[in-house]
Amino acid sequence: MIKKNIEIIETKINQAKAPDQDVLLVAVSKYRSIESMLAVYEAGVSHMAENRVQEFLEKYDLLPGDITWHLIGHLQTNKVKYAIGKTALIHSLDSIRLAQEIQRQSQRKNVTTNVLIQINIAKEASKYGFAQEEVEEAIEQILNMPNVMIEGLMCIAPLDATEQMLNNYFKEMKSIYEKLKILYNNTDRIKMRYLSMGMSGDFELAVQNGANLVRIGSAIFEE
Ligand SMILES: *Cc1c(COP(=O)(O)O)cnc(C)c1O
Repeated sequence: MIKKNIEIIETKINQAKAPDQDVLLVAVSKYRSIESMLAVYEAGVSHMAENRVQEFLEKYDLLPGDITWHLIGHLQTNKVKYAIGKTALIHSLDSIRLAQEIQRQSQRKNVTTNVLIQINIAKEASKYGFAQEEVEEAIEQILNMPNVMIEGLMCIAPLDATEQMLNNYFKEMKSIYEKLKILYNNTDRIKMRYLSMGMSGDFELAVQNGANLVRIGSAIFEE
């Protein structure tokens, strides 16, 4: 079932993307069993995303060492130290305070930590992330943190958005991404290479609008 689901998703991604667009499929494995995650891994998807550090660490020890781990949920600063060195990409950089703690812990371990800046694209009170007007100032501050590497942007679209609204949010994200790419891409402290948007319900629309990393949970793991 999982293998079939992944095939269907990959077909849909291929239909939605432009010929020169590479899209990374990340399996969102929060709350899923080790057994089902192994099925995903056997089916050829080796990027997994968790949203709680505790659960991530438990699974990290039980699953194959060549899995690439992503963290996607709001990260509390007191949990940062456990994740550093084990996660390839933190999608949910949503405050300067968090960036400072990632810097501190990365420096202690002598590693660089890759992050995406989370944008609260619909300005929802219930969601974390920077407003689009705040992004450049945030980047300027993070550029002073040598162990934090910005690799792109992430957003979570509102659950109740219409297709039209989703289209607009994804287009806005893409335009912010392209603008930042032009502004910053030639510094060695920032590599704009991921636009992380699209989940089970909206990934085709996200890919059509330029997403190159999709985070998919239920469409992989559920019937
Ligand atoms: C849970 C989650 C997903 C996956 O959601 P599905 O609808 O199950 O695909 C993607 N991104 C984030 C940030 C999540 O928390």
